[in-house]
Amino acid sequence: PLSTRHITTTGGDFDTAYPVEVKKYLRTYGLTPPAVESYETQAKRCLKLLELKPTAIGKFQYLTHLRATNVHLFYRLLSENIKELTPLIYTPTVGEACQKWSEIYTQPEGMYLSFSDKGNLYSILSNWPHNVEITVITDGSRILGLGDLGINGMGIPVGKLALYTACAGIRPDATLPLTLDLGTSNKALIEDPLYMGSRRDKVTPEEEKEFLDELMAALTERWPGIVIQFEDFKNPFPSLERYKDTYTCFNDDIQGTGAVILAGFIKAVKLSGVPVKDHRAVFLGAGSAGVGVAKQLVEFFVKEGLTEDEARRKFWLVDSRGLVTNDRGDKLADHKVYFSRDDNNGKQIQSLPRLIDFVKPTILMGLSTIGGAFTPDIIKQMATLNDRPVIFPLSNPSSKSECTFEEAVKYTDGKALFASGSPFPDVEHNGVNLTPGQGNNMYVFPGIGLGAILCKSVSVTQEMIYASAVALSTALNEEEQKRDWLYPDIRRIREVSVTVTRGVIRAAQKDGVDRELNIRSLSDEELDAYIRDRMYDPSAEKGKLQDEISQLTQHLNG
Ligand code: NAP
Ligand code: MN
Repeated sequence: PLSTRHITTTGGDFDTAYPVEVKKYLRTYGLTPPAVESYETQAKRCLKLLELKPTAIGKFQYLTHLRATNVHLFYRLLSENIKELTPLIYTPTVGEACQKWSEIYTQPEGMYLSFSDKGNLYSILSNWPHNVEITVITDGSRILGLGDLGINGMGIPVGKLALYTACAGIRPDATLPLTLDLGTSNKALIEDPLYMGSRRDKVTPEEEKEFLDELMAALTERWPGIVIQFEDFKNPFPSLERYKDTYTCFNDDIQGTGAVILAGFIKAVKLSGVPVKDHRAVFLGAGSAGVGVAKQLVEFFVKEGLTEDEARRKFWLVDSRGLVTNDRGDKLADHKVYFSRDDNNGKQIQSLPRLIDFVKPTILMGLSTIGGAFTPDIIKQMATLNDRPVIFPLSNPSSKSECTFEEAVKYTDGKALFASGSPFPDVEHNGVNLTPGQGNNMYVFPGIGLGAILCKSVSVTQEMIYASAVALSTALNEEEQKRDWLYPDIRRIREVSVTVTRGVIRAAQKDGVDRELNIRSLSDEELDAYIRDRMYDPSAEKGKLQDEISQLTQHLNG
């Protein structure tokens, strides 16, 4: 049986698009202006209102308000204007919103769990009124590049889950933004009278582990099959290691990033015309991102037939002290050891141009946080060595990017196979419009989440992550391929997500971690249709509601 609560929980009772029949049923007739509006009219007003807000944060607040009051309209607007609106609900605006969260907070949009709630997490989760299929969890300890923002990090799970809904059609009421209030190392927050989290120091790693153990079990007991995505933890590695085999969980900062760079890399390697075995990669930056991305690419080389040792030796990593080698005379951080070189013949190479001369790389990656580190000379050097040099300046934000797209085009005469971490505008070159690739995690995480949900995966395996990258690299349409793009147009994200989701499901089936056995025998076309069929489509919701109401009315009358 249908209850009013059931059809109104997601917000939108006062939708001006409802026909009179629905308004009467909802008893909102007379409470909204008389016009029965089309989506097009509503969208026009929303976009006008958005334009009227002079600041990004004002636009963010308007969109938050729209989601709370008319969820389907919000998601239709977001889906149909994904390129324009994503920067307002996610990076960069969400960063500013988190910094100002204490001041701009108006309403609950997810759950907050405090360290003092330990022991009662299951019963607190029971307060959430919906059936949850996916949650994004942060402890606020490393929000984007902005440091520890405590519970003000809530903007991240909220924004990220909005993207799961817009890009992969996970129902909005099946998403749970979750922020852990485990104290904060941010003294300014603790002293801010408007701060709404616990005013205590960050709990110890041991305490955090115990808390997470209880939380993971409670979430999975409350909502069996739930997909759990970790985001923006200062030290994300221990929990991923601890839970990846026993829970359906993944970490987008590590795994999503690795996958999206890998996808662009697969395309670039193909387009470069250089055989896989002849590639050599120089990485400027050997931090957690640099090493993480390099390890993902090792996996690619191994799948292409190299031994792990051959694959590993295709990488030359550079940190703030120069080329990472065994005989440098400093104690290398653990994560750097795997890629440390022993074939430098005693030479310590500190300058990037000299290293490029020495290695003659086909690939230059930047994960150094040093804006402009790929100087015109370095870019030209890459162009001299290669017909189509692969140049990926991945540091964020744009100001930290190792070079701009314009520089890469200019100094390689338009030959560079380019992807960056941050967006850059198109560039006109010899009368041709060139579009930069952007390694945006948004290409993969929605499909990883939806894939895991639909095949009821017991865990998220490395093969599923890898498959998301391979699937993404095949998701370009003819036009995009003709233009040598590394990533598809983000405006086609819903279609791209279907392909990624299928890849993820197939990998889960291969690994035998799927529990939805009925879909094993579907052909690729059938599986795509199955996925599409289960994707939330905000434009169909009003029609569904209308059908439900006329059925109910008939039932009551009959
Ligand atoms: P990190 O841990 O601070 O690592 C930075 C690395 O760069 C370190 O190895 C550091 O050397 C090295 N470095 C610093 N200055 C240098 C210099 N002058 N010359 C050569 N190397 C230098 O940072 P991270 O977390 O790995 O992230 C790095 C960047 O990647 C960030 O800008 C982040 O935004 C970006 N990123 C992008 C994506 C994406 O595109 N989707 C995803 C993740 C991260 P030491 O080890 O000697 O300190
Ligand atoms: Mn993140």
